[in-house]
Amino acid sequence: MSTRVWINGTFFDKHDAKISVYDHGLLYGDGVFEGIRIYAGKVFKHAEHIDRLFDSAKSIALRIPLTPAEVIAAVEATVAENKKVDGYIRLIVTRGPGTLGLDPRKCEPQIIVIVDDISLYPKELYENGLEIITASTIRNHPNAVNPRVKSLNYLNNIMAKIEAIRAGCLEAIMLNHNGEVAECTGDNLFIVKKGVLKTPPIDAGILEGITRNFVIGLTKQLDIPFQEASLTRHDVYIADEMFLTGTAAEVISVTKVDDRIIGTGKQGPITRQLRERFQKLVRE
Ligand code: PMP
Repeated sequence: MSTRVWINGTFFDKHDAKISVYDHGLLYGDGVFEGIRIYAGKVFKHAEHIDRLFDSAKSIALRIPLTPAEVIAAVEATVAENKKVDGYIRLIVTRGPGTLGLDPRKCEPQIIVIVDDISLYPKELYENGLEIITASTIRNHPNAVNPRVKSLNYLNNIMAKIEAIRAGCLEAIMLNHNGEVAECTGDNLFIVKKGVLKTPPIDAGILEGITRNFVIGLTKQLDIPFQEASLTRHDVYIADEMFLTGTAAEVISVTKVDDRIIGTGKQGPITRQLRERFQKLVRE
């Protein structure tokens, strides 16, 4: 069966799922989105994703033409239509079709729900860890578009991703405008030093990741000392363990950064513990 895509209340087969070339989502990256997982037939952290979508939209003065409950129902209907038990949802709100100018006032917002599969990193990388670099492209300044807004405009993250790929890596650390560690191109970042788990605070200019928040919640259950702390590249290089979190990546160890081996060069014990607990809980 072909993937069925929901656009403004109607299902279309994947190949017929089309939007206007005048949509400002395409012309200007003007819109917001969410990436969400389906585990064992359930939409993971659905309410949290819808909250973040509405916050992102509000921040860019984009009116979502449905209530949060209606968006939740649209997502559930698309999951059911595609009979997905494990998969990935891409929920998108674009500013919609307008004129060729920037002015959004004539645009009619569009809502799109795609339910498909997600390819995670290769399985062995979860054991052996990722090698990543620090990109020279910085995360956007909070007074431009705040990184808390999950907007369709990912260009600086894509520039950093291209740097990673050129260096033979799959991810890159992005620094903020103060030179502090912010996050990766599509994942949040954590380190462990002397038994304490640390991650940059939201005001380091990061997306407030749903997986990040879930992992922070696990530290209380597992009695792992945790703090939000501003981090430099030095802190990363001398960390005992490092891992990334994200909807697609889940919890994945990082064992090399800018050619420095992190810790023992293998997935560390706290990373393993958090990953295992994460894997168990998402399916409960
Ligand atoms: N940072 C960025 C820039 C992201 O795009 C994402 C989502 N892929 C994340 C962090 C992780 O957020 P979440 O756990 O909500 O997927």
